[in-house]
Amino acid sequence: MILILFGPPGAGKGTQAQRLEKSHGLVQLSTGDMLRAAVTAKTENGVRAQEKMASGKLVSDDIVIGIINERIAAEDCKGGFILDGFPRTAAQAEALDEMLNEQGLKLDHVILMRVDDDALVDRVSGRFACGACGAGYHDSFKPTKVEGVCDECGATDFSRRKDDNRETVATRLTAYYADTAPVLPYYSEQGVLTQVDGMAGIDEVAAEIASVLDA
Ligand code: AMP
Repeated sequence: MILILFGPPGAGKGTQAQRLEKSHGLVQLSTGDMLRAAVTAKTENGVRAQEKMASGKLVSDDIVIGIINERIAAEDCKGGFILDGFPRTAAQAEALDEMLNEQGLKLDHVILMRVDDDALVDRVSGRFACGACGAGYHDSFKPTKVEGVCDECGATDFSRRKDDNRETVATRLTAYYADTAPVLPYYSEQGVLTQVDGMAGIDEVAAEIASVLDA
């Protein structure tokens, strides 16, 4: 199964991708996570991407397409994967189709997580993640069960993304509406697009996505 979780920053793509890894045995491929790792490791791609990411603008297509092309060929992706944050432009969507074709693979679903713009800023600005296992949390909507301790692995180190602030979210939303949302007709024409209500609770959204995948 190959699926794309589609939606604006803060829609809950990462949260649902982590759930689907466990429930459906799929691998989460987040271009944002891969780029952040490249920035931390100061690789050539990381150095090229850093400034754009810090300001909330899109990183160039050639960088992200290259990263995904390499990643989907890896052994752990053979059982299926979830694209989280890719594609984000028409050129990326077309490149993805070519990559999948070359590998004899097919895109099964594109799930659009619809969320009101007003909710996105609050959702994004309260996010944090476990520094050890990467489990995602939110100050109000998904706090850890025990304060300061990761539910998943028990670690006590957490991090917040530098671009999860009100100003940068506005730029990220602008990029979403200018470059990413216009890709949706491409997928509705292919008959693979389904919309879910991303304003619902995490469990309800997970159930709605599962019902699409398991239909
Ligand atoms: P995310 O973690 O998906 O919110 O991505 C964080 C940042 O990484 C974005 O604001 C972009 O600067 C960059 N980024 C991630 N994925 C892509 C992509 N597919 N195309 C271009 N830039 C991306």
